[in-house]
Amino acid sequence: MFSDIENHECVLGMDLGGTKIAVAAVDPKGKILMESDITSPAKDSSMMVEYFIDLARVEFEKYRRKGLEVKAVGVSAAGYILQKEGVLLESPNIAWRNVPLRKIASEVTGLPAFLDNDANCAAAGERFVGATRGVDDFVYLTLGTGVGGGVYVDGRLIRGHRGMAAELGHILIDPDGPMCGCGRRGCLEALASGRALGREASVLAREDRKTVLLEMSKGDPDSITGKMVSRAAEQGDDVALRAFKVWSRYLGMGIVDFIHIFDPDVVVLGGGVSESGDLFINDVREVVSERGIPTLVKDVSIVLSELGNKAGVIGAAAIAWEELGAPTSF
Ligand SMILES: [Zn+2]
Repeated sequence: MFSDIENHECVLGMDLGGTKIAVAAVDPKGKILMESDITSPAKDSSMMVEYFIDLARVEFEKYRRKGLEVKAVGVSAAGYILQKEGVLLESPNIAWRNVPLRKIASEVTGLPAFLDNDANCAAAGERFVGATRGVDDFVYLTLGTGVGGGVYVDGRLIRGHRGMAAELGHILIDPDGPMCGCGRRGCLEALASGRALGREASVLAREDRKTVLLEMSKGDPDSITGKMVSRAAEQGDDVALRAFKVWSRYLGMGIVDFIHIFDPDVVVLGGGVSESGDLFINDVREVVSERGIPTLVKDVSIVLSELGNKAGVIGAAAIAWEELGAPTSF
């Protein structure tokens, strides 16, 4: 039944998330030939590493037995990563510290392996088969629990000295703003992530209690999440829509800075919150045109991700194809 994929050249993309691990065989054109989603085990560091080794071995064998010609492995993980060494230094959603993931993936499969952070991978995925196919200069932002960034300049992903460049979520927007997950105050992530959207709505819901958000959060404004705000805004809830307005303004101001620095052709917005992109993208575009230097911002398109929740796994594969030197997508 898998005869149509036999002898197909592919790479294995692996996306290590907090709740699941996605694996996919992706061909040079970005087509997923076969895929699996596996639930992540508990956040026990040593257990996770053992688990990953077993998982990589089992999945690789399974894919190879189907006749796929696997060329390399690409791994995507959230966190600070030494890209050349392939070491995950620390991760916000899995309890790993100093894990040589690239070496592990390579030893288990006997193939070249590559590791990069989730936002860089997602940016590579969008360029491979998504919103920025063939675009050499763009900024990608992932708007999830946090805010991550990936930047292409002249057709190359910016990685920096150790591979940790483009932490766009941690530019300073408001020195007196709320605390960020990084331990500092007023980062873009603290003001324009999914979590920040929930917090903004909870402040507004305390003043204006006529909101479905209080029903959704069982009367406790502190438990309002970004997802609830999206759902409420889709129903036309005034508090949720106002929260999105405030949030969009911060996001727009961050994007202005990125445009001034990188001179991109396109800015792509991905991650969980971007699934409600229609609710805020026009506000963001407006803030950018009002706040940016007109000559610099006027021709930049701001668009939504096309890969959705496949960005991680396709992106991990895209990174592997790029590193192998294969022409991707064009
Ligand atoms: Zn921060």
